[in-house]
Amino acid sequence: MAAPDVTHAIIGAGVVGLAIARQLAARGGTTILLEKNDAPGMETSSRNSEVIHAGLYYGTNTLKTDLCIRGKELLYDLCVEKGIPHRRTMKWIVAQTPEQWEATLRVHAHAQNIGVPTRIVYADEASRREPAVRARAGILESPTTGIIDSHSLMVYLQGAFEEKGGDCAFRTEVTGVAKEGGGYRITARSGDDGEETSITAETVINSAGNYACAINNMILPQDRHRTPFYAKGTYFSYTASRPSTQVLVYPATLPGHGGLGTHLTLDMGGRIRFGPDVEWVDSPNDLQPSAARLQQALPEIQAYLPQVDPEAISLDYCGIRPKLGRGGAVNTGHGFQDFVIQEEDGFSGFVNLLGIESPGLTSSLAIAEKVEGLLYG
Ligand SMILES: Cc1cc2nc3c(=O)[nH]c(=O)nc-3n(C[C@H](O)[C@H](O)[C@H](O)COP(=O)(O)OP(=O)(O)OC[C@H]3O[C@@H](n4cnc5c(N)ncnc54)[C@H](O)[C@@H]3O)c2cc1C
Repeated sequence: MAAPDVTHAIIGAGVVGLAIARQLAARGGTTILLEKNDAPGMETSSRNSEVIHAGLYYGTNTLKTDLCIRGKELLYDLCVEKGIPHRRTMKWIVAQTPEQWEATLRVHAHAQNIGVPTRIVYADEASRREPAVRARAGILESPTTGIIDSHSLMVYLQGAFEEKGGDCAFRTEVTGVAKEGGGYRITARSGDDGEETSITAETVINSAGNYACAINNMILPQDRHRTPFYAKGTYFSYTASRPSTQVLVYPATLPGHGGLGTHLTLDMGGRIRFGPDVEWVDSPNDLQPSAARLQQALPEIQAYLPQVDPEAISLDYCGIRPKLGRGGAVNTGHGFQDFVIQEEDGFSGFVNLLGIESPGLTSSLAIAEKVEGLLYG
């Protein structure tokens, strides 16, 4: 039997695929990264909040908690070592009602349990540090939350992968994956001339983001097929210089929310952006922001930033969360969906990554370690 063409084939060059490619290339052998677009990170990895999450929101012993906490540490270390732009901004969770404050205190207790630092900020400190922020019922601070320039991170990861001998195949859309010999045959269509080609690989990693269910369905039998769901998030830019904040501000969310509420984040230049909200859509290409969303988000923003100037808020961009159901993304409540990261039963060497929504950016380096562990641990 002929040896496979490559040792590792990774499908999808988002931040997670790039991190996995870098990790596996470091082991030796040959590693190829297949990407349908012209460049890495043109989908969800460049359409998010760029927040380094602390790991507060997900249940104990979930992949989201474990990989977020580990990923956060790895990411801060890498940023310092490689000069990747980032800032430890901290974050405030602000509650306006007793019910929201109760939910926030549960987050506080949970954080203590899993070893993530959080502290209550009282009114005098709050008004001194962030006079523009309103929190009628209470504030919880997360000191380890920060922001990162995700584009610079991906440029670094691609460079490190290629330096280790890895190959990027852009404009290469995977159209089929099948078991062959002891490995897999991958068929792909070229974006240049539409030609189909194929290669064989010892291991295949499905890191195709919003299209990961489609890849899953190419290889696994029908009774293990998955249906993708898409939760669109719209962002709003803010052009006025006041009010301003130093910290990220998140409204307290109640169980069952599909996201983390229309929050306030800062980019590396200190500019405010609001978002994302949650809107269920039918297509991963539904990326057009719609004016109606702004009217819905405004009251949510005004609740914690009452002096915000509505005239200075405008529609910005959208991102689509890859979901495996219509349940909540946060808290441990009903419908919580964890990341799915597994070597599939009966498909040795095939690792599936499904539902890699937030905190996927934060977790990316830890996910790469996990995938290596699944294959070689
Ligand atoms: C609105 C929003 C806000 C978020 N905010 C944060 C945040 O603040 N912090 C955080 O940690 N996380 C956040 N996330 C989550 C984070 O952005 C994602 O978890 C992460 O970007 C996922 O990376 P990925 O590589 O898995 O997927 P993607 O970036 O989607 O990459 C998948 C790649 O696979 C390619 N592909 C798909 N099908 C094929 C095929 N057949 N052949 C070849 N290539 C293919 C695609 O072209 C794409 O480039 C947010 C997500 C959203 C949507």
